[in-house]
Amino acid sequence: MSKSAVTYLKELVAIPSQNPMGRSDPGDGFGEAALTDHLETTFERLGCAHYRQPVHPDRANIFARLDGDRRGDRHGPVVLFEAHQDTVPVDGMTIDPWDPREEDGRIYGRGSCDVKGGMAAMLAVLERLRDRRPPHCPTVVMACSINEEHGFSGVEAMRPLLACHETDFVPAVPTLAVVAEPTGLQVVVAHKGAVRWCLHTRGHAAHSSMPEKGSNAIYRMAQVVDALNVYQRESLPTLGSHPLCGPATLSVGVIRGGLSVNTVPDSCTIEIDRRLMPNETPEQAQQHLLTYLEQTVGVDMLELETPFMTADPLSDAANGPLAQRLGESIRSIVGSWQAIGVPYATDAPYIARLGIPTVVFGPGSLEQAHTKDEWISVEQLESTADVLYDFICRLGE
Ligand SMILES: [Zn+2]
Repeated sequence: MSKSAVTYLKELVAIPSQNPMGRSDPGDGFGEAALTDHLETTFERLGCAHYRQPVHPDRANIFARLDGDRRGDRHGPVVLFEAHQDTVPVDGMTIDPWDPREEDGRIYGRGSCDVKGGMAAMLAVLERLRDRRPPHCPTVVMACSINEEHGFSGVEAMRPLLACHETDFVPAVPTLAVVAEPTGLQVVVAHKGAVRWCLHTRGHAAHSSMPEKGSNAIYRMAQVVDALNVYQRESLPTLGSHPLCGPATLSVGVIRGGLSVNTVPDSCTIEIDRRLMPNETPEQAQQHLLTYLEQTVGVDMLELETPFMTADPLSDAANGPLAQRLGESIRSIVGSWQAIGVPYATDAPYIARLGIPTVVFGPGSLEQAHTKDEWISVEQLESTADVLYDFICRLGE
């Protein structure tokens, strides 16, 4: 008998794969290596070809391939399933993060919702496809990325491989992709991106008893922060609003400046978080911001660094037909479905940028992800496996 998604999920939750989140020596339980080993063994047992792609020391993406039926002398279409291996850390959790306890129709544990639930459903589908192969079965490639929670370097490294450069493990560029994330069984067709910068103001230090001899970088920054507040309220809305994701936003989250109370500060720094609508690029956002500052407070004694973080937005320009097809499977298994937009970033746009129609879909809600008692609904977990199996079967019709 095929292993259920629940069984797969319990195995995955029991193996820590916390993202180090930039910590240099995080210790045991961090990094994806143990989970990658487990996935390799699983793919081996399923009879899938597999491929490990090292990305950082001890951190590797892993791919599996279930070959489809050939069409004459050519392979059939290739479908991509993608899920990230890492979870957020377990600090502050009130349950045992690695003991996948099942209670009242839920499975608890770190990663159960984000995103080992979606990954488990995909593994169960691979096994079902092996055991109950539909006619004209497409080739299914499952890609498990590292480092989704802190920088998207795993999926970025996958791109040449998905574009059939470097290796022929993926026999053709996938014709569509489903990325696992907790979407509550809705189809996410668009999401915002993010770009984060440090902005500095410069001044001249002086003894605070003679402030007129210096130039106060904190006073300068106060003007900039005021301007940014007006920018968020009045200028950004003029860029419009995406029907599913809403308007672009900006928030100043960190401020640092000054050495001591008796010194006129010569520098001050803020960190800015700008959320991108699906049709915006980080470069456009930066240019728009700089133009505004130029026109309001001027840009002398002011320095905007290159972004220390960017996350691409997902556009709904090319994934409508895919969403409809997946939606038909959702309708037949669970009833209704909706195409939605969400505020969080995912691996999906990095795949979509290759010209592959990509949607985000999976069990569980964002409200349960990253929480101190993270859990997933068993019903949604099993429905996800049913939906994805039905989806693959219909592709062959
Ligand atoms: Zn996730």
